[in-house]
Amino acid sequence: MTGHRESPGEVASATAVVGFDPIERSWVTEAAPAPSFADAPALDGELAVDEASREAVATDLGNIAHHRPGAVLRPRSARDIAAMIRFCGAHRIAVSTRGQAHTTHGQGLSGGLVIENRHLDRIHSLGPDAAEVDAGISWMDLTRAAYERSPRLTPPVLTGYTGLTVGGTLSVGGIGGLVGGLDTGLQVDHVRELEVVTGTGAIERCSRDDKPDLFEAVLGGLGQCGVITRATIELVPARQRARTYALLHTDNAAFFRDFRTLVDRPGVDHVYAELFPPDATQTYKLYATAFYDPPAPPDDLAITGGLAVEPTIEDTPYLDYVFSIDEGIDTLRETVNWDRLVKPWFDVWLPGSTIEDYLAEIVPTLTPRDIGSYGASLIYPQRREHLTRPCPRLPEPDGSPWAFVLDINTVSETPGPAPEFVAEMLARNERMFARVRESYGGVLYPIGSVPFTARDWRAHYGDRWPAFRAAKDRYDPDAVLTPGPGVFDPG
Ligand SMILES: Cc1cc2nc3c(=O)[nH]c(=O)nc-3n(C[C@H](O)[C@H](O)[C@H](O)COP(=O)(O)OP(=O)(O)OC[C@H]3O[C@@H](n4cnc5c(N)ncnc54)[C@H](O)[C@@H]3O)c2cc1C
Repeated sequence: MTGHRESPGEVASATAVVGFDPIERSWVTEAAPAPSFADAPALDGELAVDEASREAVATDLGNIAHHRPGAVLRPRSARDIAAMIRFCGAHRIAVSTRGQAHTTHGQGLSGGLVIENRHLDRIHSLGPDAAEVDAGISWMDLTRAAYERSPRLTPPVLTGYTGLTVGGTLSVGGIGGLVGGLDTGLQVDHVRELEVVTGTGAIERCSRDDKPDLFEAVLGGLGQCGVITRATIELVPARQRARTYALLHTDNAAFFRDFRTLVDRPGVDHVYAELFPPDATQTYKLYATAFYDPPAPPDDLAITGGLAVEPTIEDTPYLDYVFSIDEGIDTLRETVNWDRLVKPWFDVWLPGSTIEDYLAEIVPTLTPRDIGSYGASLIYPQRREHLTRPCPRLPEPDGSPWAFVLDINTVSETPGPAPEFVAEMLARNERMFARVRESYGGVLYPIGSVPFTARDWRAHYGDRWPAFRAAKDRYDPDAVLTPGPGVFDPG
């Protein structure tokens, strides 16, 4: 990429900047020439090389990174993806897959080819305990279809926002934002089988027993070793209603006592917390949810007895609960141009033994600007025994049965580009990550905007690095796949 660029420390002037190029790690002030796709193979789907199509996929939800591809593949089959990966391999053109592009630091961008995987969105089968789906389908569409079945079914783990693709969240992990987490593990823990197009253009099937090295390298594997084209996802019986108990806390110790009580309370199916910059009325809002079928509602007293504060209770149909964040995001889309707001997100795993001390350290330092009117900071508990996959990476075992994901999902007040805000928040994220890694055993959840070098990635994978490197060499020997995060950059 040869557009005019300035070094990462230098902030380009607001009028000139196009965005940050995560691959070259510098600010971009004009577009670069694209690679040629003139000899691309015949396809079932479409290869778009017009400027509007390329520009439409040049950034992600973060609006921080900008990298315009040379072409956009709208596939109609895994064969299309395989043919284009072979073409790109032969011409040394980088390839990235794009689900809904809801990462925030250019993880799915590329100057070469972008595969728009959302065009592959069919449900191939939906049985009593599993569905085989194209990886471009959204969790919302899969959930609706599973719930319409008799008896009603649901994926056992659902992200808070369900307009994300199956392939996208399986590539990062998939934390149960509103369903799952206490006794389920992540979405990657509920996959029976995958179809993957590797970096050599081979179409492979894999599972825990069949090509387990590929299975392990693509689940939570950030698109480094293959493109997930189909997944067989476990389904479980769904309940009709969700009753949520919400508790406001200002005191760190009392909040954690209630948090730790609720995650072990019989009858509680899901727990998470929202964190606010400190003020007199609330610092934390704790949510515990019980799913049930009428006429057998949860026992409110058994669930909330002995807690430090009185809960408010909301009782809704299951799907209203599951799609509540989607509804909130849709409103932001309509009212404040949500998709164009700048989102320098900070997302980390913390060991159960240090989260409390870490929050005691950082909460007093947070200001309203660190989250923003349209942002959120969230804490999700995960019982470690259900986290079965080697990727995504977790904190080192510390004797606690729990690990937590902390999100500080900062959102700007107005649409970008906002180079000074971005520079300030990326520096904040870098500083906070160094501190949480060194002093609290924190580990990156790689959906957000924490600047990472090749050295950071090697440390991130730790003892898993040799196996991940071997899978990369085997399944993507020309290193064409997913350059955005820079996992296998030299250096
Ligand atoms: C409002 C909101 C709420 C969220 N809530 C949660 C939550 O509750 N839990 C949680 O875990 N996360 C949550 N996320 C984060 C989310 O999981 C990630 O942003 C995820 O990447 C989104 O999926 P996507 O379809 O947009 O993937 P993309 O952002 O398009 O892709 C993610 C990465 O995987 C690669 N990739 C995409 N598809 C494939 C594929 N088929 N094969 C191989 N590689 C692929 C991409 O190149 C990219 O590097 C939330 C995000 C938002 C915006």
